[in-house]
Amino acid sequence: MKTDVQIAQEAQKMHIKEIAKKVGVSEDDLELYGNYKAKVNLDVLNSKRDMPDGKLILVTAINPTAAGEGKTTVNVGLSMGLNKIGKLTFTALREPSLGPCFGVKGGAAGGGYAQVVPMEDINLHFTGDIHAVTTANNLLSALIDNHLHQGNALNIDPNRITWRRAIDMNDRALRNMVIGLGGKTNGVTREDGFDISVASEVMAILCLADSLEDLKARLSKMIIGYTYANKPVTAAELDAVGSMALLLKDAIKPNLVQTLENTPAFIHGGPFANIAHGCNSVVATKTALKLADYVVTEAGFGADLGAEKFFDIKCRFAGLKPSAAVVVGTVRALKKHGGVGKNDLNTENLEALSVGFENLKRHVENVRKFGVPVVVAVNEFPTDTQAEVDLLQKKCSEMGVEVVLTQVWAKGGEGAVKLAEKVVELAESGVADFKPLYELDQPIISKIEKIAKEIYRADGVEFTNKALKNIKKFEEDGLGGLPICMAKTQYSFSDDPNLYGAPNGFKITINDVKVSAGAGFIIPMAGDIMRMPGLPKVPAANRIDILDDGEIIGLF
Ligand code: ADP
Ligand code: MG
Repeated sequence: MKTDVQIAQEAQKMHIKEIAKKVGVSEDDLELYGNYKAKVNLDVLNSKRDMPDGKLILVTAINPTAAGEGKTTVNVGLSMGLNKIGKLTFTALREPSLGPCFGVKGGAAGGGYAQVVPMEDINLHFTGDIHAVTTANNLLSALIDNHLHQGNALNIDPNRITWRRAIDMNDRALRNMVIGLGGKTNGVTREDGFDISVASEVMAILCLADSLEDLKARLSKMIIGYTYANKPVTAAELDAVGSMALLLKDAIKPNLVQTLENTPAFIHGGPFANIAHGCNSVVATKTALKLADYVVTEAGFGADLGAEKFFDIKCRFAGLKPSAAVVVGTVRALKKHGGVGKNDLNTENLEALSVGFENLKRHVENVRKFGVPVVVAVNEFPTDTQAEVDLLQKKCSEMGVEVVLTQVWAKGGEGAVKLAEKVVELAESGVADFKPLYELDQPIISKIEKIAKEIYRADGVEFTNKALKNIKKFEEDGLGGLPICMAKTQYSFSDDPNLYGAPNGFKITINDVKVSAGAGFIIPMAGDIMRMPGLPKVPAANRIDILDDGEIIGLF
């Protein structure tokens, strides 16, 4: 069997100018990065703001398991399937971070015959967006420490600086450190640390900004810490915004690439799905909606985190109205949710599948609460048995949700034609009536409780004193009207990663609450959330290589 990178390198890619032409983007609006990558100017979106949008389709999933679900793969496959049935379709996905790529995950450009290419570039430095995010982030850090060194006119308390440095690498040794050692000329000594760049607020802002103007407005509002008198200090007060925006001037433009079947794809922006909202950029999604009949986009993790934030944060801020959602599930992962161990997933187990189905069922019910119609896509694996597939279809029809089997990994767009037809039927039926789950003007506590009870199905929420104190402070500082960006384990509806399936009778504990005032959300922390991942015992980096003839191996 061919590896992903082999399949990708055999692709018959078209020149990116030709891909742009398919969607009516002229060469003047492209900035070429070689033959197969280009940035698309913001003028394309700006000149079409009053034109009608295509239909927006969300790809989401059951709670992820080690067994793999394949959201990106289905997303890419579905967009190719839609093109096959005559709908001009764009894929809009996040850019992968180097940290996970050299850590455990490998790349994130789809898999098998449903990939975006050139995958080796997309998974590595690509067009330098993440580098720009890192640099803008660290410029602000440098300005903060210089401000302290030069006399600290703003009275910033060095012990209460919340802004951290960033690097696009999994490097646990950088999590906590002391900086400014070595005497007076080397700055003020204080504690600091690094987050992975994609967990930074700058990345979240890049993905939510709708224009350069909006980007600057959001950067201005970022809180970097507090004064001795407990007053928030913003990036605007440090006069950092103009320089940061300049560093991001190209990063804000969406990156055009193509699928293995030459359909257009924007790969742009890559915020974490725990500490941030986990969706590709608003600029890319909006531009794609102006250029195509259909836009297929993915939200990170399971629908409890990814879809909820996509709807309540991204769609609300950007005024997007999704027409349908695809909930991806696999027989293997549902068996895992039904209690089967990692090593027994290849054995038929109808009982476990039945139990695990409850996880899928709850996600389908949840997505429908947003007024968006759903189809379930079963991402088929060679190990699925006929009896298992039949049972899954039967359970879906019992709950009144359409289910389609897809073979995009093995067959590309051809494997998603049925799914594409079903998606078109749902989207064109006009039944979608999108509405967010909660209103912004509710108190922070009731917004959190609403998500916990309605989406996670918790009995209630417990807040630590620290969490309550921060909520009170944010409301006093005028930040109470922001939406919620929940930071919770992706593996369970609950805050316990080991509670698979569809648990009941649990409470969610919020240990701490943070704010990203520039990105524009409140972050309740349900458990310890990693902002700087570490590498595993045998990192993917140990397998990755480029041979003397230029062949790349081990990227997957
Ligand atoms: P997600 O977006 O949900 O994290 P991906 O689409 O990135 O998942 O897929 C995760 C991994 O699983 C990839 O390496 C991909 O090639 C593989 N994969 C996805 N679907 C299948 C399938 N049907 N059969 C075999 N491998 C698959
Ligand atoms: Mg993915």
